Amino acid sequence: MTLTPRVSSAAVATSAAAALLLLTACSGAPPQDDAPADERLDVVTAAYPLQYVTERIAGDDATATSALSAGTDVHEAELAPSQALRLSRADLVVALPGLQAGVDAALSDAAPERVVDVTEAAALDGDDLHFWLDPLRLADVGDEVAGALAAADPDRADGYRQRAAQLRTDLTALDQRYADGLAPCRGASLVTSHEAFGYLADRYGLQQLGVAGLDPEVEPTPARLRAVVEQVQDTGVRTLYFETEATDAVTRALASRLGTATGVLDPMESAREPGADLVATADANLRALTDGLVCS
Ligand SMILES: [Zn+2]
Repeated sequence: MTLTPRVSSAAVATSAAAALLLLTACSGAPPQDDAPADERLDVVTAAYPLQYVTERIAGDDATATSALSAGTDVHEAELAPSQALRLSRADLVVALPGLQAGVDAALSDAAPERVVDVTEAAALDGDDLHFWLDPLRLADVGDEVAGALAAADPDRADGYRQRAAQLRTDLTALDQRYADGLAPCRGASLVTSHEAFGYLADRYGLQQLGVAGLDPEVEPTPARLRAVVEQVQDTGVRTLYFETEATDAVTRALASRLGTATGVLDPMESAREPGADLVATADANLRALTDGLVCS
């Protein structure tokens, strides 16, 4: 990575080369911008939650671009050649290996200059990669991203760290709203179409049962469907949750057979629209949970 140093006015006054620059500036050449666009880090992120965190921490000091277009299903997406090229040219890539096969393949081909692997900061438990549904894990990943940005661009380290601290404040407040809102629902069964909500369930004391497993592309087995039916009947589950993006025909059919309501939870794997606010989406999920779970 090359960062062009900024030219200070003192340096201009004392250096002969700069005096020449000054001369060309007087003769009508465009003035030197304080922060030319090509001086900022170009960061590419592997999936929407990483994009959200990186954008918040980058502020105006770096550009953050998602490797995938908004609305792309994170579990099956391939990168277009132009997206793979962008990733290979990035100053920094924020990645979670295993989440996005297209990004993993492009990373092993392209070997960009710097890659932050957030696996450790996310404190992953087994094969479940959906850490961002736990606000406190997401805040830890934010600190990791801020550290990587600061190391790559030390001049702007203070800004990265300040914005990471603000992000942590917002996510800690979100965690508190979840803890308060779900306290009366402790122990409730959370039946979802795709098992993306394990970290959320663990943090707030819910029992998750997915109709499909961790990967929503895999069809549920008859044994799995029987387990769901039993859980609904044994625990008085009132709502089966399905996802915004997926079709979830199985979950809807099951709900109609069991006579339960359906609710919508966004697994936040992709942005429904560019620039979608993750905290607002998480609050909408919380309302859906407190409306549909069995709470005292
Ligand atoms: Zn998923």
